[in-house]
Formats: sequence, structure tokens, C-alpha cells
Amino acid sequence: MKPFAYTRPGDAAAAVAVVSADPSAAYLAGGTNLVDHLKLGLVEPGTLVDVTGLLPTGITPTADGGLSIGAGARNTDVAVDPRVRRHYPALSAALLAGASGQLRNMATTGGNLLQRTRCSYFADLTAPCTKRDPGQGCSAQHGWARHHAILGAPEGGCIATHPSDMAVALAAFDARVHVLGPDGERTVAATELHRLPGDDPGRDTVLEHGELITSVELPALPVAAHSTYRKVRDRASYAFALVSVAAALDVADDGTVRDVRIALGGVAHRPWRARRAEQALLGGPATDEAFRAAAAAETADARTVETEVGGNAFKIPLVAGTVTATLRGLAAYRTEAS
Ligand SMILES: Cc1cc2nc3c(=O)[nH]c(=O)nc-3n(C[C@H](O)[C@H](O)[C@H](O)COP(=O)(O)OP(=O)(O)OC[C@H]3O[C@@H](n4cnc5c(N)ncnc54)[C@H](O)[C@@H]3O)c2cc1C
Ligand code: SF4
Repeated sequence: MKPFAYTRPGDAAAAVAVVSADPSAAYLAGGTNLVDHLKLGLVEPGTLVDVTGLLPTGITPTADGGLSIGAGARNTDVAVDPRVRRHYPALSAALLAGASGQLRNMATTGGNLLQRTRCSYFADLTAPCTKRDPGQGCSAQHGWARHHAILGAPEGGCIATHPSDMAVALAAFDARVHVLGPDGERTVAATELHRLPGDDPGRDTVLEHGELITSVELPALPVAAHSTYRKVRDRASYAFALVSVAAALDVADDGTVRDVRIALGGVAHRPWRARRAEQALLGGPATDEAFRAAAAAETADARTVETEVGGNAFKIPLVAGTVTATLRGLAAYRTEAS
């Protein structure tokens, strides 16, 4: 590991000033992603700016009836918060589906959103990877592409997926991410925080160097109280999503969909808000047939990769099955409860 300086400034603004002024500086939160990358030599910051203790860690009600989650809040604390569990159960379930208990105890809200892709070639300095080294080409295009993107990826370009489970639930709920930068504060919609790779796959988000996530705000959203998160992975725990679904559903007494929110994980370079599927479902019947057709509409433009060691075409039917099962579960619960 390359030597680096370590500092913990007095407050968040001072931390922003240090990182903004130094292109080689990076924030350190729980360290569960960054320290791995330091050890691998993937990143070599000159200075680590520790933001633990500088960022809010609480979960507080907002004036509009939503919740504000401090960027320093640990994943465990957010997952078990009674208000999160009651009003945004998909968020709690998404967090509990991620990593292990020990990791969740260290991982923070800000760090979770900004963790980097789990594409194995990205972490392997001997493998060509245009996300890590622009212009090198993408090893996954002719290698192990089982975990890779089917939506929003340029042909022949980076097909990495964003790994955060929490980010998928936040995208479904129209959360807002509050950021502090050298020029002051700004707010970014959770659905717009992460970007598609385009011709600049090295950038995962719209944040500029030095911008610090300070909190995440969940709006008051009645349908979110009737939500869930389903994650399909290669093992039962401690694995990243092949496909995941955060969904909320409100079905009217006549059996039609009154409100629906769907976001997908494991399918794109960013959490994928399934707006086409939502539009297809609104006002129509809450049936398996409709759920499956809506999922098919969402993946109509999917681009898959087939290689000798494993492609990702299986994700198209997996999205259909997972979306259908998730919405069926939400619809059935309402039927039993009513
Ligand atoms: C074995 C293993 C399995 C895992 N499984 C899952 C899983 O299934 N699902 C899942 O979602 N995650 C999983 N994770 C990832 C884990 O959740 C992340 O490592 C963690 O959430 C990152 O949070 P952190 O606070 O430790 O971030 P750090 O490692 O400290 O930082 C991560 C990045 O964010 C930046 N950063 C941190 N805080 C801020 C901030 N407030 N503002 C701006 N930049 C900031 C850092 O500079 C760094 O670039 C797994 C991790 C491991 C090691
Ligand atoms: S998918 Fe992206 S991160 Fe993975 S090897 Fe290709 S360019 Fe690199």
C-alpha cells in the first residue's frame, strides 16, 4: 500500500475544503470499500480525510413527514430504525440483504452509495478495464459477464453494475441526496446520482471531486409503507445481486393499480428506476399477466452479452420473474389484509 497522510478536520466544511483543494485526497467513512481498494492498489490517495464524527449519524423526521438520514448513519442503524421499517420497509430489507452484520455495522449511508462496482476485472490490475484505465477495452465483454448490465450500457463499452442494495430502494422512493461542495450545498435526486457509463465509465456519479454527501432525505410517500425488496443472488447471503427489485404497490378496491414504484438492481451501471413498467401498470389490473408484461416492457431494449465463460441473457427472464413475484406478494398481502 502506498503511504498516505491521514487527517480528520474539525467539521464537514473543513473536510470539503481539504479534499477540494487536493486532487489526490479522498474521504474515508466506514472504510469497508475504500480500504480494500487501497490494499489492491486500485486507488492511491495522497491524503485520506476521515469524515466519521463529522457527518450526522441520526435519523430525523422532516417537515413534510419524511425522514432525513445522516450520511454517517451506519447501515445497521438505518435498517433497524422503527420508522424506516414501518414507513419504508423495502429500504430496511435492502440494507439487511447487503453484506454481513459486521460490514453493516461499519458501512455508512454515504459510503454505501459511493461504493464502486464489483466487476472482478475492475479489481484485477492485470485485466484490461476501461473503467479503471480509459481506452483499455472491457474484459467482461468476452469474459465472465454473469453479473453484468443488460440496460443502459453502450455497445462494447463498460457493462459494470452498481452494487448498492440501499441505492435501489432509494431510487424507488424518490429520495434526495444532500451534498456539500466548495461552492455550498446542493441536492441531487437519488435516481440521478449515479450515471450510465456512456463514453466516460470512470465516473460512477454526477458528484464532482470534493463533494461530500451529508444526508439522504426520504419524502413522505404513503405507498412506500407497502413495499418490499427481493434480491436474487448466487448464494443465500453475503453476495451481490444478480437481479434485485425494490417495489411498492397500492391496489384499489376494484383490483386496479393506484400507485406503484419499481426500481431494479443488478441490471445497469446505476439503480434502474423502472418507469416504463410503472406506466404500464398504473390504472390496470394487478395480475401476474400485467406484472410480467410490464417487466417485459422495461427490458425491451436490453442488450446482453454471451461469452464462453458465462453471459447475462438469463437476466431478462429473471427480471420478469422477480418483478412478477415481488408485485404478486405485495398484491396478495393487500388481498389477505383487506
Ligand atoms: C465482502 C463484502 C460484501 C458486500 N456485500 C454488499 C451487498 O451485498 N450489498 C451492498 O449494498 N453492499 C455490499 N458491500 C459493500 C458495503 O456495503 C460497502 O463497502 C459500504 O457500504 C461502504 O460504506 P463505507 O462507509 O465503508 O464507505 P468507504 O469504504 O469509507 O467509502 C466508499 C467510497 O465512498 C466515499 N465516501 C464515503 N463517504 C462519503 C461521503 N459522505 N461523501 C462523499 N464520499 C464519500 C469514499 O471516499 C470512497 O470512495 C459489501 C462489502 C464487502 C467487503
Ligand atoms: S465491465 Fe466495466 S468495470 Fe468491468 S471490465 Fe468492463 S470496463 Fe471494466
